[in-house]
Amino acid sequence: MTKQSEERRLARFILERAPWLVLTGAGISTESGIPDFRTPGAGLWEHYNPMALLSTETLNNDPETFYRIGYPVLRKFRDALPNPAHLVLADWERREWVRGVVTQNIDSLHIRAGSREVLEIHGHLRTGSCRRCRSIFPIDRLEEQLAKAIIPPRCLCGGLLRPDVVLFGDQLPDDFSKAQMLARSHPVLVVGSSLTVSPANLLPSVAPELVIVNVGPTPYDDRATYRFQEKAGVFFPRLHALLLGQ
Ligand code: NAD
Repeated sequence: MTKQSEERRLARFILERAPWLVLTGAGISTESGIPDFRTPGAGLWEHYNPMALLSTETLNNDPETFYRIGYPVLRKFRDALPNPAHLVLADWERREWVRGVVTQNIDSLHIRAGSREVLEIHGHLRTGSCRRCRSIFPIDRLEEQLAKAIIPPRCLCGGLLRPDVVLFGDQLPDDFSKAQMLARSHPVLVVGSSLTVSPANLLPSVAPELVIVNVGPTPYDDRATYRFQEKAGVFFPRLHALLLGQ
């Protein structure tokens, strides 16, 4: 079967089985200029040890290192713009081909692209909160202190401020339970995830149907009805054009 006819079959399948739950990982944002964790030569893990830097242990015991070395890696994500893959998925939600997006990403790019039902199971960089009084603030409150070299940033109550991303050692937000429910009752389309980070990688195992679009291999490749090793930002506009022609 040619690649083009395989893509046509996928386009039909997308329409037949809609609405889909989309599960995205760092790979969907690499074409927006944010490196993922595992692509050889480009992955963040080649330069940093995120488990050590971006952990609750470092935040609690060594907040200076967290804010001087770990957090600057994350804050770069705030400047990125959505790419065509994010935009196509937002369009599919408006057409009711997508029920929602579950993302492991903290870059807010699905929301900036116009997706409405977005479950950010690893949090986001739009807000920060106080570890002591639990108040939630726009992230700029934290950023303003960092810009004045006030490290670590603090709340008016004196408590330590933190970004509202899920750090290693944190529990997942309630959104993860909702994502599990949706994954049981919708076909799942995985985009740009190595499916090696737990527990997000459990979602495909409960899905009634599975499609994977990812450059690298995943442990679920044999279980997927369709599996494309393609760059999402190129593949989705092409698939979208096929869908509009159906
Ligand atoms: P991962 O780094 O484990 O895997 C990314 C996968 O995407 C790889 O298998 C790679 O082959 C594939 N890929 C890379 N570019 C692609 C492209 N253009 N199109 C399609 N596939 C592409 O990512 P993960 O599964 O999300 O897990 C890593 C963890 O990293 C998550 O916990 C996530 O929170 C965090 N993270 C987030 C961001 C972000 O917010 N953008 C960036 C880096 C890491």
